[in-house]
Parts: sequence; structure tokens; C-alpha cells
Amino acid sequence: MKFWFAIPLWQRVIAALILGIVVGYFWGEDATSIKWIGDFFIASIRMLVVPLIFFSLVAGVAAIGDLRKLGSVGGRAILLFIVTGQIAVWLGLGLGTVLAPGSGVDASGMDLDQTRLESAQAAQENAKTFTDMIVEIVPASPVQVMADVNVLPLIVFSLLIGIGILMAKEEGKPVQKVFDSGAIIMQKVTMVVMELTPFGVFALMAWVAGTLGLDALAALAQLVVLNYVGCLLIILVIYSAMIKFLAKLPVIDFFRGIVDAIAVSYSTASSNATLPVTLRCAERNLGVSNSVAAFVISLGATINMNGTAMYLGLATLFGAQVFGVDLSWGQYFLISILATLGAIGAAGIPGAGLIMMALVFGAVGVPLETIALVAGVDRIMDMMRTTTNVSGDAAVATTVASMTGDLDRAEMISADDV
Ligand code: ASP
Repeated sequence: MKFWFAIPLWQRVIAALILGIVVGYFWGEDATSIKWIGDFFIASIRMLVVPLIFFSLVAGVAAIGDLRKLGSVGGRAILLFIVTGQIAVWLGLGLGTVLAPGSGVDASGMDLDQTRLESAQAAQENAKTFTDMIVEIVPASPVQVMADVNVLPLIVFSLLIGIGILMAKEEGKPVQKVFDSGAIIMQKVTMVVMELTPFGVFALMAWVAGTLGLDALAALAQLVVLNYVGCLLIILVIYSAMIKFLAKLPVIDFFRGIVDAIAVSYSTASSNATLPVTLRCAERNLGVSNSVAAFVISLGATINMNGTAMYLGLATLFGAQVFGVDLSWGQYFLISILATLGAIGAAGIPGAGLIMMALVFGAVGVPLETIALVAGVDRIMDMMRTTTNVSGDAAVATTVASMTGDLDRAEMISADDV
């Protein structure tokens, strides 16, 4: 037991992945008999979606502090979060559409749960008009919305509660504390569920390798490569442009200033765990004022996740291609909104993006089995997503600080003596 926990989770997951492939390859179609372990894992992940979004989003909004702050620093930061998030998700959708990592996989041999496929088809047939969608983002009953895992209205509801907490000022504090603590508790619960990952991944990879063969694995490798390409484009093109043209600062110095945060985020795959390092880099190496850094970066660690947004777009197309789900333009837009919101709702912890897939997939009828397919390689992609997310927090904080006069340029130039 001790020995088991002494090995980092991601290493156990990779080992399970490899073992699963080998076992599945030799076991063949009969590997389906252990698929239930994977189903158990997926069900556990789904269980987390609603409470995780609810607590972390409300806590995130409430962390803004007061409503006026929303207007100045918050307004700018959130605008940048949203614009870069949208660019990121469309980049993921573009890469996924043009390079089609999931095509060429024949999923017909997979014994998919028939009802799930039917509900996926039903979801497609019930494609809604734009006005229907607008009306439906207002939750008629918050409880119903939670019970149905209907994420868009849930997010609207959570945002409103967050704003309500801010409006209530002192009287809102006790409830804010509850949400802060709830968010932390949900992260712990997620950690517990994540302990199932090696078993889930083993069973699912054995099932995938046994029923799909090596094509699927080649497709997964393509997905991983595309994930890296997308993340690197976001960092090198979007963030560089933001620093150069909006913040009007030297790009090289910016990246030199955040090297520590990059290293820590890549190895921990957690924006939250990296938070203290990101803050330190922004304040000491980039010259961002303490208040702007603390506010933008701690909010960003929860809601600004461009790597995750890009990945959610890409992975949805991957799943659609593997399982032969046709997506309309309307659904592309729905994905772009949900992936951005999913990235906002994802906690800054390892594997959070994987959990958020459930919400995007469900809305556009992509089978949840896709989560199973990608779970084994998620960590490798998560590391890069997180680095993208964290660099984005630092880039937005620096840009906002530069716009509002909260940046000490002399500090930044001296980045070499870090
Ligand atoms: N691990 C990522 C982060 O902490 C979230 C994700 O899984 O995409 O930023």
C-alpha cells in the first residue's frame, strides 16, 4: 500500500496505460469483460462536475472582492480571459477539424452502451434554435439544472450567486467562506476520485486496444501532438502578441521572468499548486503590483485556462470523429461557448480538464467513452495545458498592470538578475 502511494499518480497512470494496451492487445475482444471498471471510473468523474463547478465558480467570482473592482481591473482581466479563451478554443476546433486526429478509427467494434448512443442521437435531433438556447441559459429551477447536469444554466446561476455574495458585502462573508471551503473540499474529493485513474485507465485501455486495435492508439498519439502544437501556438503567438502590443513590453523578458512558473506548472499539472510561484514571478520578475498580481492571478488560476479551452475543443472533435458524430456549425458554436465556460469552471488541479469534457460532450452528443479513450494520455497533455494556463495568467496580469499603471517597468527589465 505504502509502496503504491509512494509512486506519483501520473506514473501509475502511465504504467496502467501501457499495461492496459499490452493486456488488451493479447486478450482481444474479451477485454470487454473488464470495461465495467472503466465505466465505474467515468461515473465517478461525472459525479464531480456539478459540485466542482458550483463551488469553484462561486468562490472565484466572490474572490474578486467588491463590485467596483469588477469594473476596472476585473473588467479588463475578464475581457482578456474571454477573448484569449475564445481564440484558444477556436484554435482547438480548427486543428481538430483540419487535421482530424480521430478519423480512421473504427469504433463499431466497441460495445457502446446503446442507450447512450441513442441519447446522443436524440441530443442531435433536438438541436435548438439560438433563441431557445438564450432562454434556456436561465435556470428555471437550479436544483433541476444540477440534477440534469445542465452546465450552462448552472454556470449562470453560479455567477449570479457570486455576484450576490459581492453585493451582500459583510453579510455575504459567511456564505463566501462556505463556498471557499466547499471549493477546497471538492478539490480534495477530486484527488480521491483521481486515485481510481490507474484502474480506470488500465481497464479502458485494455478494452480499447482489444476492440479497436492499434489504429486508435495512433490516433491518440496524434491527439497528443496536436495538443502540444495548439498550446505552443497560444503561448508563442497569442501571449507574445499580448505582451508586445497591448502591454508594450519586451517578450523575451516576459518569458524569462516566468521560467520558474513554467517549470513548476509543467511538472505539477496544477495551476493552483503553481499559484504562489506565478505570483512571485509576476511581482518580483515582471514588476506587477501586489494587488493586481494577487487579484488577477488568483482569479486566473481558477477561471483563465486557455490550454484547457483549446484542448476541450480539440478533444470534442476527436471524440466526434472516433464515434462518427456529425457536428453542425451551431454545435461548433455551442462547443466554443461550453469549452470556454468549462475552462472557467475547471479547478486548477491535475486532470480537471478531463472532467470538464463530460459537460461539452454531453451537450453535443459525443459519447462519454471518449473520456476513457484519452484518459491514459491525459497527464502528458495536462502538463502542457497547465503551462499554457499559468503563462496566460501571468500574461494577463502583466498586460492589465501595464494598462492601469500598476507595473514597475524598471523591475521587469532587471529580469536577468533573478
Ligand atoms: N490541470 C489544469 C490546470 O491546473 C487544468 C486542466 O486539467 O486542464 O490548470
